[in-house]
Amino acid sequence: MAEQPTNRVQQEGSPREPGAAPARPGRPIIVQKYGGSSVADVDKIGKVADRVVAAKRAGNDVVVVVSAMGKTTDGLLALARQAASAGGGAAAEPPRRELDMLLSTGERVSMALLSIAIQARGFEAISFTGSQSGILTNDRHFDARIIEVRPFRIEDELARGRIVIVAGYQGMSYRREITTLGRGGSDTTAVALAAALSAERCEIYSDVDGVYSADPRVVPDARHLPELDGAVLQEMAECGAKVVCAQAVEWARRSGVALYARSTFDAVPGARETVVRRFAPGSTASTHSARAIVAEGNVVLARAPGGLRLDALLRAAGELGLGFRDLSFGPGGGAFVIPLLNVPDWQGAKRQLVALLPQIELDEGLASVSVVGDGLTATASPLSRFVEVLGRAGIAPRFTVASPLRLGALVDAVDAAPAQRLLHAAFVEP
Ligand code: ADP
Ligand code: ASP
Ligand code: MG
Repeated sequence: MAEQPTNRVQQEGSPREPGAAPARPGRPIIVQKYGGSSVADVDKIGKVADRVVAAKRAGNDVVVVVSAMGKTTDGLLALARQAASAGGGAAAEPPRRELDMLLSTGERVSMALLSIAIQARGFEAISFTGSQSGILTNDRHFDARIIEVRPFRIEDELARGRIVIVAGYQGMSYRREITTLGRGGSDTTAVALAAALSAERCEIYSDVDGVYSADPRVVPDARHLPELDGAVLQEMAECGAKVVCAQAVEWARRSGVALYARSTFDAVPGARETVVRRFAPGSTASTHSARAIVAEGNVVLARAPGGLRLDALLRAAGELGLGFRDLSFGPGGGAFVIPLLNVPDWQGAKRQLVALLPQIELDEGLASVSVVGDGLTATASPLSRFVEVLGRAGIAPRFTVASPLRLGALVDAVDAAPAQRLLHAAFVEP
């Protein structure tokens, strides 16, 4: 006779609130997420399998979320663009629905390989796609948002003693369509599952041993941050620090999931790490301090002359699925920033935007650089210093914004790296 799932009652009841107390007593649940560089080849997948097995041996129930191998997602996107342009027609934009069908396969490859590697080590494991894991999203393709998680199959398999491997970055809409969660979205899968399973913690493994005061690839003097406030990390992620994706931090803050950012390649897992808390010590509003420098390449500045109505602008952005930030608007006109990370085909979107709003002006080839912290507008002095540091280096921002959590400027893309180093020296190093 087939084995019966052990948590039928829970399965038939309404799903638990994210972050609610565990419904099943017993072993703690740990969610681990391994990014693309951690599962880049079969050898690395084997090393991840060893770590997963060690966590299971230590007495935990383990759910593992994986990204696509290495740069697979970029490769699949390039194939889609190639296929779309092959017809020679004007519409060279790959349909978003098909993009999601294609991109979601990347994570499926890694989930199956990791499950095979774990089983080869004598442990029971099973892999699930996002939809099998109960990740339900809205119906936006390419940058869907998770609206509910019903992890019943995962709970059943954990109760059977299995390690569960989940394909990150994907879900299913209420229309039963496969969706993807925006670039870097495997982090979101991990945190949303941790919340729905009332996991003890969510460990995000990548090629860096935590969050630094700037991207260590760009700023050699970047400092490791052992503890970080969720609000500050969310602001960092929204403005380009890709170490943890913004939607994931938002879920963690909302549900109270404890986040640990670690390196897959440390000899001892978590030897050095960043713990992200709702309110980390030393980062309350009273400290008025800069915590990190963040940059995002590939943003566009949209400027609207007076006479263009805000509602017309928002309607056009909505129709084209364009996100925006730093919007300011008044009778004399307005401006806002369009990040291109989750825009699959900017050239196509641009053509349509200009057709809808011929008056709009678009500045390309820009990057945003930001100082992130708290209380940054309590006095004028941080913003004065920000303007002065860039000015002294001959960097002329096209657009400047200030809020308590962030001072930001749009600069020419070539100036982004030196601007980050100068701002780090002026704001974080003293
Ligand atoms: P994964 O593929 O594992 O999800 P990502 O490439 O998305 O990993 O994120 C890790 C990268 O984030 C690092 O290699 C680093 O260059 C970059 N990064 C950007 N800003 C920061 C920061 N403030 N702290 C640490 N890493 C950062
Ligand atoms: N594979 C996806 C990406 O490259 C999702 C992820 O890595 O988290 O964006
Ligand atoms: Mg990532």
